[in-house]
Amino acid sequence: MTKVQRKETVGDIKAQQIELNLGAVIKKPGSSMDYHTGSWRTFRPVIIQEKCIKCSTCWRVCPDAAIFVDKKGRYNVNYDYCKGCLTCVKECPVDAINKELEEK
Ligand code: SF4
Ligand code: SF4
Repeated sequence: MTKVQRKETVGDIKAQQIELNLGAVIKKPGSSMDYHTGSWRTFRPVIIQEKCIKCSTCWRVCPDAAIFVDKKGRYNVNYDYCKGCLTCVKECPVDAINKELEEK
């Protein structure tokens, strides 16, 4: 882990040296696929295929690009990247996405 050294002066307190871990640094571009963001989900969206009219709204509004179209043209959720924000549930025009409690 990379560490940085920093000197701070606050009022009369001078030159206290502290060691901080370097944070929020993306060292490799295009690495978002390496990080599965679905592990801390509370609710999961479940698409009811029989009700889906394939309008693509869920695909467009998902902030994590976690909705995909499979080889048969069905809309599905990639649960490795779905963080359970439920925007797709709210925006589906025909209520074809159920909100279900995630089972850990
Ligand atoms: S719940 Fe949120 S993150 Fe998951 S598929 Fe729907 S819009 Fe995307
Ligand atoms: S928003 Fe609803 S109807 Fe439209 S593609 Fe997604 S699941 Fe199907």
